[in-house]
Amino acid sequence: MHNLLDHLVLQKGAALFSEGDGGDCAYLIKRGQIEIFVRREDGDIVLARRGAGEIIGEMALIDQGTRSASARVTEDCELLVVTEQQLEHRIATTDPILRMCLGVVIQRYRETLALHASGARSRPASKAFSVPGPEFHAAVEALTLDQEMLRALRLKEFELYLQPIVHLGGRGLAGFEGLIRWNHPQRGLLAPAQFIPAAEASGLIVGITQWCLHELTRIFPLLAAAAEGNAAQPLWTASSESALFVTVNISGHDLVQPAFADTVKTILSQGGISPCNLKLEITESMLMKDPAGAAKILDACRLHGMGIAVDDFGTGYSSLSYLSTLPITTLKIDRAFVRSMASDPKSRKIVSTIRYLARELEIPVVAEGIETEEQADMLAAMACEYGQGFLFGRPAPVAVTLERIRHWPAPFAAPMDSDAGPRRRAAELLTMD
Ligand code: C2E
Ligand code: CA
Ligand code: CA
Repeated sequence: MHNLLDHLVLQKGAALFSEGDGGDCAYLIKRGQIEIFVRREDGDIVLARRGAGEIIGEMALIDQGTRSASARVTEDCELLVVTEQQLEHRIATTDPILRMCLGVVIQRYRETLALHASGARSRPASKAFSVPGPEFHAAVEALTLDQEMLRALRLKEFELYLQPIVHLGGRGLAGFEGLIRWNHPQRGLLAPAQFIPAAEASGLIVGITQWCLHELTRIFPLLAAAAEGNAAQPLWTASSESALFVTVNISGHDLVQPAFADTVKTILSQGGISPCNLKLEITESMLMKDPAGAAKILDACRLHGMGIAVDDFGTGYSSLSYLSTLPITTLKIDRAFVRSMASDPKSRKIVSTIRYLARELEIPVVAEGIETEEQADMLAAMACEYGQGFLFGRPAPVAVTLERIRHWPAPFAAPMDSDAGPRRRAAELLTMD
């Protein structure tokens, strides 16, 4: 019996296991070759050979019985052990549909083994009808949600809400983040947390991202017309530096589609939108799976003129090296740091360190989750370029957003004095650190 720390190196001729042994693990063959055989009076019968990249002894993981054949090393081998415990843990934490299907396959296999063991003629007693268990319910829920999301795409039940992003200096409008909502016919208005994780698990998120981009092309001219109606606001069609922008949250699944950059470009050009009006929001965790592949796609997006914003910056535990290799154009400071800034000097230091890092790299920052004047003033005093949060507006439907654009006040000049109450308090906090 082996444990999962085992990394076995076996030499030619060694026995790996013998018929009749109790087994609870399988082996991945990194290098070498192994022969599976049964011993008979008139000699060994070789059943199979397994080599590098294959698995051996896997039945032990599911039949909970003894080894039905022996295995010996025919070429020096390097093996990695997979234990029953490891497999069980993975099954228990996987997607509910996969968990149910695997559970059923393993159960059927065990029933077949029991049937063989008890003689081919005696069929196992058919099980009494049992009430479906939690596995079944979880799978039904996941499948139903998938079907409903497909229907939602077809019947246009999703809606893109927009939340303002402002220039922190003078509170002028800078752009909007697109945030999806689902007008569910039975459950009412659903927040992304209630369906985006399921869309990620099933891959439907790719269709949702495309829906968001198409939806942008529909609402973009409306936003542009509203901005034209407000002389105090910048235009969507201005030069790339001052143009208003819209951001869209994309998924790790999008970053493994080789044609993603071209698909986005095509959708934008069909809608007559310049790529410099769009920023794609990615998270650090999306970069971890296939950094080289993601870099290629993001480079192509950037070449087409789109901006790339790192969302929830500071929460992803990833290496910072991607900041120098990827074409990042904005960092979004996570709202957890902004929330605790006023009370926690450490959060303040994290925000000012991110700000310093971004300035060195010449990347502007957006501070997320600003709810109070005090937070806004502290961030402005740190020279954070942009702010987003309930203080400036909650995410809202297009009609509300158009009204907001039409009536958005002209930006004020950055204050020279620091007499205003919250501003003074912000300055005090900053000098305390
Ligand atoms: P996110 O990208 O970090 O979006 C910001 C979230 O913070 C939004 O939640 C927004 O409503 C909320 N927020 C903004 N300002 C404040 C504030 O001042 N205080 C507080 N407490 N919250 C604030 P929402 O709309 O529920 O979205 C949650 C997450 O769902 C988003 O986080 C994003 O990761 C995901 N998401 C939303 N729309 C899409 C989409 O179209 N596609 C994908 N792939 N993900 C999306
Ligand atoms: Ca976002
Ligand atoms: Ca965020």
